[in-house]
Amino acid sequence: MFTKEEASALSAQFETKTPQEIIQWAVDEFAPEIAVSTSFQTHSMALLHMVTRIQPDIKIFFLDTGYHFWDTLIFREQIQHEWNLNVVDLYRDSRWDIFARQNTRTLPLQDPNLCCYIHKVQPMQKALSGLKAWISGIRRDQTPERAHAQILELQDDGLLKVNPLLNWTKSDVQTYIADHNLPAHPLYERGYRSIGCAPCTVPVGAGDNDRAGRWVGRHKIECGLHTDMFKHKELAEVKDQFVMKPEDMK
Ligand code: SF4
Repeated sequence: MFTKEEASALSAQFETKTPQEIIQWAVDEFAPEIAVSTSFQTHSMALLHMVTRIQPDIKIFFLDTGYHFWDTLIFREQIQHEWNLNVVDLYRDSRWDIFARQNTRTLPLQDPNLCCYIHKVQPMQKALSGLKAWISGIRRDQTPERAHAQILELQDDGLLKVNPLLNWTKSDVQTYIADHNLPAHPLYERGYRSIGCAPCTVPVGAGDNDRAGRWVGRHKIECGLHTDMFKHKELAEVKDQFVMKPEDMK
């Protein structure tokens, strides 16, 4: 494995590489102990297409939060079948079941940080715990937080996060999608340009940032997968970020 200094130096070299070159390097280095995550929204299709052309049987992690639009789940099934993808659905830990069921309708609205932690952050941490590398599709032009990301990010636990699209713009992604005639999420044409869970996603106007329709009015722009929250493995380290205090939150 790498030291943080080695990963940082390599990351700087990758600033001028194409996404495909970065993915190829990661696959050569880590397969089969590598996975890619996807939300199956329109702009995710570019990364999914690139990665599976290089490593067709790579593990593809999909967070099945239980709050997705039905359209997302149907699109996910369609693409998995047509592209013959190795999709692995990730679910919340069962210890949250009673609390989550009791608060199904209110949780995303009253405490979206806790809801994302339960349904996204923890399941992804668990799924990645046995792997060496994680390919994600974040770009620097998406949010202020992502603007400071690095192409290679080595976590304290040894997991290497690989962000091959970091230097691509929305326009680059759209060009790739058009050039390869990739399918679009069925809600995209209706203004849902960044699609997460149904209670936390609304359509946006033509001039709006794509992510302006996520968690509207809830002072939240990231789910936690790409923030410091993801680096903390113990619940006690992050529970101050939550409003609700379920009894099993020890
Ligand atoms: S996006 Fe919304 S519904 Fe989905 S896990 Fe986060 S808070 Fe919950």
